[in-house]
Amino acid sequence: MNILTINCGSSSIKYQLFCMENKCSLVNGMVEKIGTASAYIVHHKDKQTYKAKIKECTYFTAVNKIVELLIDSQWGVVGSKNEIAAIGHRVVHGGEEFTSSVFIDSHVMKRIKFYARLAPLHNPPAYNGIRAALKIFPKVKQVAVFDTAFHQTMPQEAFMYGLPFEFYKKYHVRRYGFHGTSHRYVATAAARELKKPLNKLKIITCHLGNGCSIAAVKNGKSIDTSMGFTPLEGLIMGTRCGDIDPDLVGYIMEKENISAEKVSALMNRKSGLLGLSGISNDMRDLLQSAKKGDKRAKLAIDVFVYRIKKYIGSYLAVMNGADAIVFTAGIGEHVVSIKDKIKKDLSNLLGKVKILTIHTDEERLIAYDTYNLIKKKK
Ligand code: ADP
Repeated sequence: MNILTINCGSSSIKYQLFCMENKCSLVNGMVEKIGTASAYIVHHKDKQTYKAKIKECTYFTAVNKIVELLIDSQWGVVGSKNEIAAIGHRVVHGGEEFTSSVFIDSHVMKRIKFYARLAPLHNPPAYNGIRAALKIFPKVKQVAVFDTAFHQTMPQEAFMYGLPFEFYKKYHVRRYGFHGTSHRYVATAAARELKKPLNKLKIITCHLGNGCSIAAVKNGKSIDTSMGFTPLEGLIMGTRCGDIDPDLVGYIMEKENISAEKVSALMNRKSGLLGLSGISNDMRDLLQSAKKGDKRAKLAIDVFVYRIKKYIGSYLAVMNGADAIVFTAGIGEHVVSIKDKIKKDLSNLLGKVKILTIHTDEERLIAYDTYNLIKKKK
């Protein structure tokens, strides 16, 4: 059975086709700059790459182009559309309603649209991508896999803010957490590596990519995570500030004479590693600059690492210890110096805790969820 995964961003679509029997990915690719005149597709098959511009690219024309390539005699891997049995879509926000992956129907579509008010940058492109896929594959089962779903097991004491209770009821103000698919994937893989059942383990999962978050996974369930109402809370990230004193929002608005919207943009796009270093949001650049003696690059890395240590410490407290800490995503998988520093600085706390590095594969988990839902239905 072949399953297509579709992951829509604000101007991009990542896709991958999996053969579930062989547990392998057949092809993958990405459409970028959707909605602009310079949109293009990059498609990888057997280490070869096809690249082409897409004219007047919308989510619909992008998905159409993807399907064209999947069935192409040279670049494709299937004979026709009919060989694609199901499609799994990544959706960022499922509110409190979606605690696991679900088949998409008109109700689910309505709710994805509804939760766009909580994830204005993320849910609308997912909605558009799904709509395009439903049009092109009207008879194919489609599944939504939510970033927030895994964290719905957080207890109320972990997800409530200390704000007036009615804001929770009126405006859905609470902590949701994100990157759930990645945390779930690496926690499951860690249990496999440790040869112990996931439901008997306490694992701290650190997803350190452009976006960064940490989760406390106890007995297979997320009981706390560093991102909150939006993906801005928590760790220092490429361009996001993470935790700050909330009164700073008003203070910066006043000092800089800018709107709330502008402060939000500043905290989301001009802060974090980029804002602190003044050089780049990319950890590779900062490591290089720090090596050459750049003080602000070093400072950015130090603040980044310090915040991670604080979160690890707090999750050790929350779970009363841990069996393992897992590092994943770009920085988590590749930057050994950062992991070594964390290990060394927390050596007293981490005595018997296993430190693992696991490659995250959200697309694979999306494909598995889709496959499992279809098998269950049969
Ligand atoms: P995304 O969250 O966009 O999927 P990634 O997981 O690819 O991002 O992580 C991007 C971050 O990982 C960047 O800061 C990048 O510098 C860093 N990174 C990726 N590969 C390496 C590497 N080999 N060495 C150091 N940093 C890396």
